[in-house]
Amino acid sequence: MFSNDELKYLHRCIELATEALEAGDEPFGSVLVAANGTVLAEDRNRVASGDRTRHPEFELARWAAVNMTPRERAAATVFTSGEHCPMCAAAHGWVGLGRIVYVSSSEQLVTWLTELGVPAPPVRPLPIQEIVPGLVVEGPVPDLTEQVHNLHRRFYGIHRVNSTT
Ligand SMILES: [Zn+2]
Repeated sequence: MFSNDELKYLHRCIELATEALEAGDEPFGSVLVAANGTVLAEDRNRVASGDRTRHPEFELARWAAVNMTPRERAAATVFTSGEHCPMCAAAHGWVGLGRIVYVSSSEQLVTWLTELGVPAPPVRPLPIQEIVPGLVVEGPVPDLTEQVHNLHRRFYGIHRVNSTT
């Protein structure tokens, strides 16, 4: 399991997810960390522009492909507020990035969205390891999960208010 030293990266992911929420985007945030603990890149969800592929994990995979050697990528860790979707897991696998640590799982997200009455997404949620076999994946992190759950509650609370006005 990940170390307490690494909790700060997950807290940063939740901060980025909160920033996304406050900017009108879905609440997801991710951080790319080198083997020595240096934060190399971070991003948040940016789908409000209309491009539904603007997930932070996809952006980090592209950033890694441009800026890191294959060896550096394999030794890096991606921390993220929510488990990678199949698109992002595939991008992560194609560029050869290393370990993933997520706060909440796709399975948890599906449960939450169902409870909130959100229609099913067009892409089926699957565990990362069904897309990238053999990858080291850690999560969910129970101590932080409720914070992410709350961000999704807030997002769909706002969304509902907007859609009825
Ligand atoms: Zn994604």
